[in-house]
Amino acid sequence: MLYSPIKRSHPADKNNTDAKNIMSTHEEKLPKIPQNIKNLREELGIPENCCTYCGKVPSDGKLSFDEIVPCKDGGRYFQIKEKNPTVKELKDMAKKRNIRNRTKLTTKEQLLKALDIDIKKKIPLNITGACKICNNSKNDLKDDELRSWIRNGPKNGNGSYVPRENQERMIKWYSDNRSYIRTDDKNILHHIKQLQEKNKKHWEETEQETKKIVI
Ligand SMILES: [Zn+2]
Repeated sequence: MLYSPIKRSHPADKNNTDAKNIMSTHEEKLPKIPQNIKNLREELGIPENCCTYCGKVPSDGKLSFDEIVPCKDGGRYFQIKEKNPTVKELKDMAKKRNIRNRTKLTTKEQLLKALDIDIKKKIPLNITGACKICNNSKNDLKDDELRSWIRNGPKNGNGSYVPRENQERMIKWYSDNRSYIRTDDKNILHHIKQLQEKNKKHWEETEQETKKIVI
């Protein structure tokens, strides 16, 4: 081939979006997250503009959102579509969740209360703000690898990014809230895997298509 093919977008992006969608679809079936639980940033007393892991303001000023457990591994994910849901949306939600005496709930306040929704709390427990350096270094690590990253930093690195006083608190927070952070449901995990295999196959097939001479 005389000309090199154009740099392609990465299949991981599609997989990532699909995994997020799958987790979002199942969110209502998973253990309900109690409103009084602190997210990791709050638990550690990290200011909102700082990285949850290193505790510093990012050098470029930008915080990215890190899935503590990647959605492809069952990390929980949801987005409240509207900051301000309509009464109709809330009524639909109450119906879906089979809330008792729901026909008597008419105002938005009543519905929000019955549904136990805090519209100010938009960020899932599994998502936290991180600087690029921590986010890239932590990447997809989970379970023992994640604990080791928190305590010791990356393999072959120069130590942990997480301040010493926060390391065990971070690990404890994760253990205490595990079921609110991720799911082990075999059907969901299988579904994610299946869709990723389908994506892979589709990707390979269309790659071949792009090489077909049609003129
Ligand atoms: Zn950081």
